Amino acid sequence: MNCNHDESPVDPVAQEDACPNCGERESDELVWLDDERVECQRCRTVYRPGAPAPDGGPTDSSSV
Ligand SMILES: [Zn+2]
Repeated sequence: MNCNHDESPVDPVAQEDACPNCGERESDELVWLDDERVECQRCRTVYRPGAPAPDGGPTDSSSV
């Protein structure tokens, strides 16, 4: 069997809750600051999990 490296999350959060900056998904590295903000302990990015991307998305079709 392979050795279990630390690079794989032990308890990953949902894909949409992952850090938008570095992609961290390990729940131990993602600390809730309040009800809607999370701070990534790896890159110190503060973000709102599950929030839609602020800049353009697949639903941006009304501006054309
Ligand atoms: Zn991060």
